[in-house]
Amino acid sequence: MDTSLARAAGGSRPAPAPVGAVLRPRLRDGASVSAPTDRQGHGRALQQQLRRIRDDAVRRHRTVVLTGLSLANAAEVADGLGAESLGVVTSVVAQRLLTLPHEVHLLAVSPLGGVVAAVVCERHERDAVGEETRTVCSGFVDVVGTRVWPVVTVGLRPIAHALESTAVALADMRQIVFDTDRRSPGGVRWHEPGTVSTPARRTLSLTNDLADAMVDPDEQLRLAFQPVRDLRTGRVTAVEALLRWQHPEHGMVPPPDAIGVAESSGLIHPLGAWVLDRALRQGSVWWRAHRYVTVHVNVSPVELREPSYAAGVARALRLHDLPPTALLLELTETDLMVGDREVRATLDSLRSLGVRLGIDDFGTGWSSIGQLLDLPVDTVKVDRSLVSRIDHSPADLDLLRAVLGLLDTAPMEVVVEGVENLAQASVLRTLGVRLAQGYHLGRPVPAAQLTLGGPGGPGGAARRTAD
Ligand code: C2E
Ligand code: CA
Ligand code: CA
Repeated sequence: MDTSLARAAGGSRPAPAPVGAVLRPRLRDGASVSAPTDRQGHGRALQQQLRRIRDDAVRRHRTVVLTGLSLANAAEVADGLGAESLGVVTSVVAQRLLTLPHEVHLLAVSPLGGVVAAVVCERHERDAVGEETRTVCSGFVDVVGTRVWPVVTVGLRPIAHALESTAVALADMRQIVFDTDRRSPGGVRWHEPGTVSTPARRTLSLTNDLADAMVDPDEQLRLAFQPVRDLRTGRVTAVEALLRWQHPEHGMVPPPDAIGVAESSGLIHPLGAWVLDRALRQGSVWWRAHRYVTVHVNVSPVELREPSYAAGVARALRLHDLPPTALLLELTETDLMVGDREVRATLDSLRSLGVRLGIDDFGTGWSSIGQLLDLPVDTVKVDRSLVSRIDHSPADLDLLRAVLGLLDTAPMEVVVEGVENLAQASVLRTLGVRLAQGYHLGRPVPAAQLTLGGPGGPGGAARRTAD
C-alpha cells in the first residue's frame, strides 16, 4: 500500500482549495507556478510563461515536455466528498509532479481536477516522462480519513525548438488529454502519433475498493474457468477465464459491475493484465500436462485502445511459454466498431502475433454478417439470448437456424453459449452445432475443479458438471 506518496506530497494534508481559485503548491527550487486571475489573462500568462521556459530550455539544449493531467474520477470525488476535497486531491497530485527527477514548472492547477506543467529534461530522457509521471502521481490521497485513489490521465506534448508556437502546443496538449480522458481514462498518451507511452465508476467507493484490491490482486480476485465442449464427444476444446471479485464486505461483485468500474477508472489496464497473466499461468499448467486447450480471455475495448496492449500480450505469452494460438481473446461486437482505428490497429497486431480473436455475445449487437466477415476474427460466440427458448419456441428455433445459416458462409468457428439443459443441447446437435458452452456443459469453476481429460488432449470422458 503506498502511503509514501501522499506523505511525499507535503507531509501533512494540504489545506482544502477554495473552489474557483488556483492553488499555489509548495515549489521546489527552479519551479514556478502561474497565478492567473481571469480566463483570457490566464491563457496569455500561461503562453508567456511557457515561452520563457521554452526559450531557456532551447538555449540549454533541453526539451520541454508539456504535460497535462486530468483526474478521470473528478466527478465521483466531487460528488462523494465535495468540491473542496477534489481541490485537495488535485493539489496533492500536482505536488507529486514536483518529485519527478526533472526540472518541473507547474503552470496551472485547477481545483477541479486539471494540472498543466512543463517538464524540462535532456532529449534522451524525454520518452520516460509519461511513465514517470503516471508512477509519481499514483497512490491514494488521504482526504479527511477517506482514501481517494486519483485516476490520472496524462497527455504529453514535446516542444523541441524555439520556433514552435506555445499556443499550438497548449492546444495539442489539451486535445490529447481530453481525448485520452474520454477514451482511455487513466491512460498516458503523447500528442505525436507513433511515440505513445505505455499506460497505465460506478461509485467512488467501488472504484476505491477495486484500486485497493489491485494492490494485492490475489487476495480478493480470482478466475473461474468454464469449458467449451464438442457436443458430439463431450471433449473440452477450450476454457474461458471469468473474473471473480470477492469483496471483503459486499461479497461477490457481479463481473459486469467490476469491469464497468475498472473501465471508467482506468483500472482495467492493470486488472486486464492480471486476468491475462493468471489465465495464461493456468493455461501453461494444462499445456505442460499435454492438455492443449485454448484459453479464452475477455478483453475490454478500453484495453484494445491502448497502443501497448498487443506487446503486453506477447510478453505474457513468452513469460508463460505458450504459443500464441493457445490464447483466444473475446471481444464484443460493439467493441469492434468499424472505424475505430486504434482498436483495429491492436487487432491487426494481435493477429500478426498469431493470437486468435473471437466475437462474444453475437446477436446482441448490430453487426451484419458482411461486417463480421470484414473483421480479423476466428470465432463467433452466439449469445445465449438466441438459445434460451429453442427447446420450446419454434420461432426462436427458426431465428437461430437462420443465424447459423448465415454464419455458415463465414470462415469462422461457431460456439453457441448459454446451453442450460439437455433439450437445448440436443436441438443444437440436430442443427449441426459442434461447439457449445453453458451451465449444462459445465459451470465456471476454479481451475482445480475442472476435469479436462487425459494427456494428448482433453478426453471424451470429460465430466459434465451438473446444473
Ligand atoms: P461473457 O463473456 O458473455 O461470459 C459468460 C457469462 O455467462 C458468465 O457470466 C457466465 O458465468 C455466464 N454463463 C455461462 N453459462 C451460462 C448459462 O448456461 N446460462 C446463463 N444464464 N449464464 C451462463 P459472468 O462470469 O457473470 O460474467 C459476465 C460478463 O462479465 C462476461 O460475459 C464478460 O462480458 C464480463 N467478464 C467476466 N470476466 C471478465 C474479464 O476478465 N474481463 C472482461 N473484460 N470482462 C469480463
Ligand atoms: Ca466471453
Ligand atoms: Ca458471451
